Amino acid sequence: MTDTARVAASGALVLFSGGQDSTTTLAWALERFERVETVGFDYGQRHRVELDCRQHLRPALAALKPEWAARMGEDHTLSLEALGAVSDTALTRDVAIEMTEGGLPNTFVPGRNIVFLTFAAALAYRRGLRHIVGGMCETDFSGYPDCRDDTIKALQVALNLGMDQRFVLETPLMWIDKADTWALAEALGGKALVDLIVEETHTCYLGERGARHDWGHGCGTCPACRLRADGFRRYGETRAAP
Ligand code: ZN
Repeated sequence: MTDTARVAASGALVLFSGGQDSTTTLAWALERFERVETVGFDYGQRHRVELDCRQHLRPALAALKPEWAARMGEDHTLSLEALGAVSDTALTRDVAIEMTEGGLPNTFVPGRNIVFLTFAAALAYRRGLRHIVGGMCETDFSGYPDCRDDTIKALQVALNLGMDQRFVLETPLMWIDKADTWALAEALGGKALVDLIVEETHTCYLGERGARHDWGHGCGTCPACRLRADGFRRYGETRAAP
């Protein structure tokens, strides 16, 4: 194997939104792969502030460990306006977040992760990156069907068939809960990474940055904030236990 091929074989593309999950996922990838590129999607989301957070987070992560700095590759931002245009949801329209008759929250953007992963695979194809890494989680999520492990595995098969590749779709958070995600961040980057995630990542669906809670910035009441706050509380309790 040539040097170039070896680097490509251990290269990864991380779906990086600037939230808690994808930042932890990026740290996980930086710990494992020789070259790590990132991709973000602009689909007219209300919480577009997360796209600004991304720009602060990449150099801040690189500053935590010299090997992470060496592995951090290019960043890509793809415009997916069409996804926002066809999805009439609380993530892309200024309406209240609530449950729908179908049992899903109205923040569900149909097919979002399928579209994201398909574009990510097209980009990974061009960049010669084999691993595609996302923060999808089935354990304590909002019930989005495209976060499920079966969806991701089926998509891996479809993408590999359709592009004649051997992509590996990695989802390190799939089977852990939000408290464990905080603990994983600590294991990867110590308190410095936990502090960085608290201060600089964005999770709130409403795009609010104002209030600073012990778990970070956000409205504190939307489903994403509640999940994050509850996970941080349980993470703290675990650490305090003897
Ligand atoms: Zn919120």
